[in-house]
Amino acid sequence: MQKRAIRNKIISIFMAAFLLCIGWMTGLQGAEAAGTESSNSLLEVHYIDVGQGDATLIKSDGHAMLIDAGNNNKGTAVQSYLQKQGIKKLDYVIGTHPDADHIGGLDVIIYKFDCTTVMMPDYSKDTKTYEEVVDTLKAKNYKALHPKTGDTYQLGDASFTVTAPSERKYDSANDYSIAIRLEHGDNHFLFVGDAEEESEQEMLKTKQKLSADVYKVSHHGSRSGTTEGFLKAVNPQYAVISCGEDNSYGHPHAEVMNLLRTEGIKVFRTDEQGTIVAVSDGKKITWNMSPDESWRAGEPKGTRSDAEPAVKNTKEEKNGGSYILNTNTKKVHRPSCSSVKKMADKNKKKTKKSLKELEKEGYTPCQNCMDK
Ligand SMILES: [Zn+2]
Ligand SMILES: [Zn+2]
Repeated sequence: MQKRAIRNKIISIFMAAFLLCIGWMTGLQGAEAAGTESSNSLLEVHYIDVGQGDATLIKSDGHAMLIDAGNNNKGTAVQSYLQKQGIKKLDYVIGTHPDADHIGGLDVIIYKFDCTTVMMPDYSKDTKTYEEVVDTLKAKNYKALHPKTGDTYQLGDASFTVTAPSERKYDSANDYSIAIRLEHGDNHFLFVGDAEEESEQEMLKTKQKLSADVYKVSHHGSRSGTTEGFLKAVNPQYAVISCGEDNSYGHPHAEVMNLLRTEGIKVFRTDEQGTIVAVSDGKKITWNMSPDESWRAGEPKGTRSDAEPAVKNTKEEKNGGSYILNTNTKKVHRPSCSSVKKMADKNKKKTKKSLKELEKEGYTPCQNCMDK
């Protein structure tokens, strides 16, 4: 009897150990399953509508990053958008390049939020906008980091790799744009700022991974970027264009819209749809709206560099950006001048030349209309 009892006890100890073992293994599996789930916590990409310009907020697992902050008059709007999203601290702030439509609002953001890392290209611009950003960095005791191509950074459950610029000199300020490829599980998002053909070619040549599910269209849909070869390398399912309604540059350009359409890419655009939000669970990407169906290209209103704020020339544009010349009396008039109406048609000539150029040609300003 005693022997049996001992044997039974041994068996029960073994059984308990076995069950414990099973329990431990299932527990382990459970923990592993939970681990996969947590690495797939949602990533949000907010393409904020800032009119003509760029501002993108990226959130992952309690961490946040902002790429650009729109023009000078958009800083406060971006700030309140971030606050509504519950952002108190930004892990990364990227000023893609020193053009006003990208870093104009950045001084407000850097001033108002705790920013762990601020990234800007190693390229400065002699503008008040750029100075304001530099001054704010100084005031907050921050130093802008110039990231290198190939560098990878962690943002919550996501990570991003810098794909441009390289460390050389470019002719266009746009080609200094910091470009990044954001990775979240199986999903990828590409942001290239205003990178033009030169930078695109370089990204292709260095054979980095560029493929992305979502491509933020370069330079607001300008034909200066998004070349066919580059788009084919990115091979996106979706494209997002950030531009202003009826902007003066004619963004997005018809060439780019046609290319996106031919490649069967679904397009979202802030000028027609406002702020666009993409959510990734690491496998699928969902959107807060359906893609845009208009395929409408912008209409250019004169040629002008996008380095200048869009409002600057409006006054001159209203009167055709021009003066009226009397080729007989060699006088320069504003179109509104009363003497223009009296002028003989054969002596009347419209010009877009500056007053300085005209004075060189022997013209003198009309005392009535040109004296301020
Ligand atoms: Zn630019
Ligand atoms: Zn731009």
